[in-house]
Amino acid sequence: MTEMAVDELEQLKAQQSAPPACMARALVSLEGLSCGDAFGECFFEPQNRAVEIRTSRTLPPAPWRFTDDTIMAVSICACLERHHGIEPEWLAESFARHYDPERGYGHAMNALLMRLNTIGSANWFEEAQELFEGEGSFGNGAAMRVAPVGAYFAHDLSQVAKHAALSAVATHCHAEGIAGAVAVAIAAAIAWREREAESPMKAKAFLESVRTCTPESKVRDGIDRALQLPAATTALDAALTIGNGTRGSAQDTVPFALWSAARSLSSYEDALWETVNGGGDLDTNCAIVGGIVAMHTGEQAIPREWQRRREPLSLLLHAATNKG
Ligand SMILES: [Mg+2]
Repeated sequence: MTEMAVDELEQLKAQQSAPPACMARALVSLEGLSCGDAFGECFFEPQNRAVEIRTSRTLPPAPWRFTDDTIMAVSICACLERHHGIEPEWLAESFARHYDPERGYGHAMNALLMRLNTIGSANWFEEAQELFEGEGSFGNGAAMRVAPVGAYFAHDLSQVAKHAALSAVATHCHAEGIAGAVAVAIAAAIAWREREAESPMKAKAFLESVRTCTPESKVRDGIDRALQLPAATTALDAALTIGNGTRGSAQDTVPFALWSAARSLSSYEDALWETVNGGGDLDTNCAIVGGIVAMHTGEQAIPREWQRRREPLSLLLHAATNKG
């Protein structure tokens, strides 16, 4: 490599790791996550459940209401902007401050965030650790909100893994909850790193790259099972084999979401429609897939009509960024 090329490479690395560039990536991932979350949530409504709606790709009527996935991801973005990384106590406090019981939080998170609002967030770790008889939560809540962390640190995978784990422990201390968050954040980072590759990354290569950076866990075992699925597997058949979030755990959710993102990395719309076909925890699966795939496609691939139908995000983001 010539001296000039080395200088250019160093300049590029500096640009990619500068806070404004990192934050811009995180906000694109948030947009993908949030539109996915609100889109997926629509399909819990009885009037949107008909198979014909999915086969004809008829968009559900507005408004598309986002859920806890988006609200917590907004707190993550606010934390990244303020601290240039994840500070778990600040994040736990922001989760508690923006808690909205109408947004579909799981039972344990409802209880935890109400308690943090009552007693303050100083003992956030002890409170999170006490969940599920002292084992901590292995729910999919840490994975559903984490893609912007992968986006922010996409230039450095070791930072992705470190800050994804920090974002998880604010509420999900169990090793599976942490592994799920690390895997999703790594996937978002790799999706960004591969966006301009000369030959598109194959689904298996993508999953293998994510697996390499995922801690030993049932989540990683699930990625191994996803790697064994034949290329022609349908979303529904994949869900039957590797889970689809019906159980609400990281290990039941993350392998399917990663498999679905891997298959449609170059099309935001295809990725989300196919993810819905797999059923299960629809808003969470779609939030994870949307946050990852948007890193590969860029924000321009998220249809403007989808953004219009989703309820506005700007007020929530403004409140989280300015007040904590
Ligand atoms: Mg949700």
